[in-house]
Amino acid sequence: MRLIVLGPPGAGKGTQSQRLMQKYGIPQLSTGDMLRAAAAADTPVGRKAKALMDTGSLVPDEVVVGIIADRISQADAAKGFILDGFPRTVNQAKALDDMLAAKKLKLDGVIELKVDEGALLGRIEKRAKEMIAKGCAVRADDNPEAFKTRLEAYREMTAPVAAYYAADGRLKTVDGMAPIEVVSAAIDRVTEAAGSAV
Ligand code: ADP
Repeated sequence: MRLIVLGPPGAGKGTQSQRLMQKYGIPQLSTGDMLRAAAAADTPVGRKAKALMDTGSLVPDEVVVGIIADRISQADAAKGFILDGFPRTVNQAKALDDMLAAKKLKLDGVIELKVDEGALLGRIEKRAKEMIAKGCAVRADDNPEAFKTRLEAYREMTAPVAAYYAADGRLKTVDGMAPIEVVSAAIDRVTEAAGSAV
């Protein structure tokens, strides 16, 4: 099962991707997590990415495309994967199509979590508060200023990705404003339909 979970920052991509990872026993590949790990390890790529991420801007396509190309070639991704936070630009989506075509692989589903923009900042602030309550570090970009930039990047660069997959009928839209279990059930209907079609 090869899935993409699309949606604006705070849409619930991480929550749903982690659940799908358990359900299907395939890895969740979050470019945000991979870039944060590279930044924490203070690698040259990580250092460059951190400066962009902290302000809420996107990291260049060639960086994330390279990371994903390496990652999907690893053994644990052979049975499938859930992409969370990638592709974030139409260029990245095209690069992914090329990568999969070269491996003769197909995507089973592109799931878009649709959420009212007005609800997103509140979700991000709630996540920051929960992290503090747990004694965990708050993400450097979970603040109103970086959030504004992330939302702008989403509108400008990532919303067209949904249109790219909608154009050939691959996009399945799910209401991300519903309670988590209802969102989960809607996603399961999509993945189960995809699973029976292959
Ligand atoms: P979000 O909660 O906004 O979905 P992520 O954890 O997915 O956050 O990503 C955090 C940051 O990492 C982004 O704002 C961006 O700087 C960088 N990033 C992650 N994935 C990509 C990507 N596919 N292309 C470009 N930049 C990315």
